[in-house]
Amino acid sequence: MLDIKEITNLVKSFSPEDIELISRAFNFAKERHADQKRFSGEPYFIHVFETAKTLAELGMSPITISAGLLHDVIEDAKAEESIIEKEFGPEILFLINGVTKLGKIKYRGAERHKESLRKFFVAVSQDIRVIIIKLADRLHNMKTLQYLPGSKQERIAKETLEIYVSVAYRMGIRKLSRQLEDLAFPIVYPKEYEKTKALVKIKTKKEFEKLKEFEKSIKKALAKNNITKFTTDYRIKTFYSIYKKLLKKDWNIEKIYDIAALRIILPEIKDCYNVLGIIHGVWQPLPGRIKDYIAFPKPNGYQALHTTIFTGYGSIIEIQIKTKQMHQEAEYGITSHLIYKKETKNKFSPNFSWIKRLLPMKKRTSLSEEKINFNDIPSWIKELVEYQATKQDSEQDLKDDFFKQRIFVFTPRGDVIDLPIDSTPIDFAYTIHSDIGDHISGAKINGKMVALNTSLKNGDIIEILTKETNKPSQKWLEYAKTANAKKHIKSFLQKK
Ligand code: MN
Repeated sequence: MLDIKEITNLVKSFSPEDIELISRAFNFAKERHADQKRFSGEPYFIHVFETAKTLAELGMSPITISAGLLHDVIEDAKAEESIIEKEFGPEILFLINGVTKLGKIKYRGAERHKESLRKFFVAVSQDIRVIIIKLADRLHNMKTLQYLPGSKQERIAKETLEIYVSVAYRMGIRKLSRQLEDLAFPIVYPKEYEKTKALVKIKTKKEFEKLKEFEKSIKKALAKNNITKFTTDYRIKTFYSIYKKLLKKDWNIEKIYDIAALRIILPEIKDCYNVLGIIHGVWQPLPGRIKDYIAFPKPNGYQALHTTIFTGYGSIIEIQIKTKQMHQEAEYGITSHLIYKKETKNKFSPNFSWIKRLLPMKKRTSLSEEKINFNDIPSWIKELVEYQATKQDSEQDLKDDFFKQRIFVFTPRGDVIDLPIDSTPIDFAYTIHSDIGDHISGAKINGKMVALNTSLKNGDIIEILTKETNKPSQKWLEYAKTANAKKHIKSFLQKK
């Protein structure tokens, strides 16, 4: 029997009204999915329950958790939108519809489209919360993937690895990206997975014993220096990230020093540097492996001090030193900025590192934390940054109207083009190239011929037909919405 307390107990700051809302969503979903079963034969409700539980673990709001419980009632249980709106309000309906829409995007496989698809994925969701619900939904689907037919398993696992993991990682939600990665890896790359697992198995058993032994010595050394307010734990690299590292190290696992690392978590930044000094005073550090990611955060915003030391027993161990806040952010990423009703609200300085995480790796490394080089950023992200800068960094505000002003459409090759809302094929053509714009003879949307003044919609695939003899006309000027298209058409008409 699934108990709603498993969800509500996860967030301590829930008010009675919050719990009432979640209970209503719980009961509604349970009733609507009552006759349905998952491929596993389990009641369908388990799926939405687990999705909501993940959202609660991430500290999301009662609205988001309720939307998580209800995320499949329209699509799979045929609940009327009007009923959802009446019972739960327009916001929850908006989130459910967003999740449904996102679910309809299919990963199309071509290598060069990956980045476009990620961008599209983020854009279509219109709201960060929609993405987070979708990630939680995907997590449970991945956990139960073995019950699906083989070909479907492969498609979903690949999509997870290429799109979902990447989006979760760039939003800094390691808590999710790590799990998704490890669930998808064996299905997408079975041979590589087996090979990695075999290597790791031999290595980690030894590593663990050494770590435990060493943990005692560290605690002793810190106590001797009057440092008592700290916690330690281990982090084990995921199989998939070990695999990626093995590829770079010619499959030599002895060259990977951080399969298991010891974490020391402290209250303040100055404690971190202090502890690093103490450790280096006792143990010999490996040259070249001391990393100050506090002063110089990683491109995805990660902060910590890393060092690798000789334990003196013939082994080498990586130590990561960070504050509680850094640890929280490394695990929960953007959701740690959204955490529901916590007093910590302004403790996280409003930075936009999570937006940078949406960018391709190459571009991100050229951006410094404070000085985002706006020329490197696609316009839609730029607007989002500007929009965010004027708003408070709360969950509510992330439901932004920026996305209501832009649409995202595909070229037949799968590239995503962003345009203002109500743009027409004329705008699309000029965005691709002025030469294509100047010679439009017709346009197809999703394979159907359309008039040149047709408004484009999110997700449309646009194909532009050209004829060398075709020329811009006064009519086109009326159809165009973008300044770019208007500029080219005007200049053509003037030349004439
Ligand atoms: Mn679902």
